[in-house]
Amino acid sequence: MSVSELHKFIFEGEPVRGMLVRLTESWQQVLARRAQGGTAYAPPVRALLGEMAAAGVLMQANIKFNGALVLQMHGNGPVRLAVAEVQPNLAFRVTANVVGPVADEARLEAMLNVDGKGRCAITLDPVDRLPGQQPYQGVVSLHDDRRQPLQELGDVLEHYMLQSEQLDTRLLLAADDRIATGLLIQRLPLAGEGNLGGAGPRDEDEIGRNEAYNRIAHLAATLTREEMLELDADTILRRLFWQERLLRFEPLVDAAGPHFACSCSRERVAGMLRSLGREEVDGIVAEQGRVEIACEFCGAQYHFDPVDVGGLFKPGRDQPPGSQALN
Ligand SMILES: [Zn+2]
Repeated sequence: MSVSELHKFIFEGEPVRGMLVRLTESWQQVLARRAQGGTAYAPPVRALLGEMAAAGVLMQANIKFNGALVLQMHGNGPVRLAVAEVQPNLAFRVTANVVGPVADEARLEAMLNVDGKGRCAITLDPVDRLPGQQPYQGVVSLHDDRRQPLQELGDVLEHYMLQSEQLDTRLLLAADDRIATGLLIQRLPLAGEGNLGGAGPRDEDEIGRNEAYNRIAHLAATLTREEMLELDADTILRRLFWQERLLRFEPLVDAAGPHFACSCSRERVAGMLRSLGREEVDGIVAEQGRVEIACEFCGAQYHFDPVDVGGLFKPGRDQPPGSQALN
């Protein structure tokens, strides 16, 4: 089984960079866990989550930011919510809330945008977020500028990046049950290029005009979904850019590369139960004998018997002394 990998590259002398991600064994692991739990997603939902995972890794690797990058698709079709979360170390996890049957040929509109109100939220949640501080969030609709519904996640995210970063971006995504993969080509921002007087030409003025970017993005767009799913990274990059001066960095693999990992823990589940309140949790124990919670991302099971539950609500836990008196 091939290993998941992230390839970064630049085009010598041109203001263009690129990345290619291939999630293989890590992606298969995600699907296998879900299937073992007896709740496998429909094929179009699997493909969407795979594309979201690949896109999330590319976007996380593209920014300098110490925190989680979370992609969320909200909609009102059979898929209510799809989530991909990627940590700065490229650990990713995904989940979806599916409430109805999803047809085999369903795409974004049929899954998430039947009422035209589907949207995609991109959240950057800093590790060192202060209490009360809101994470940064950007939201885009699932429509193009002429209000036509978009069917490809890549198109939605290109739109987001143009809006949020003012940078031309080409993002191609594909996923099946073996691999989730993505290719990102982006124009680099103009940073004081050849000008001594501080602020240079605004990036907005460059949008769509940079000749090298346009040529390279056009080459990238010739890559088919089938090629993305079938060909290895070397073959893809050679085939697309053999006439370009491509400089490749050492690929990120194994622990340094994209990998599946879930951040759930018994402590976090306990914290969630505490926030529900004693009455609510005692009610569940009275009804079911104990509390059983499965992680929606990785399927891990957490059990709390009546003794565990009693321990959760021992006086003094998670409560500074005297705080009662202040209320
Ligand atoms: Zn988990």
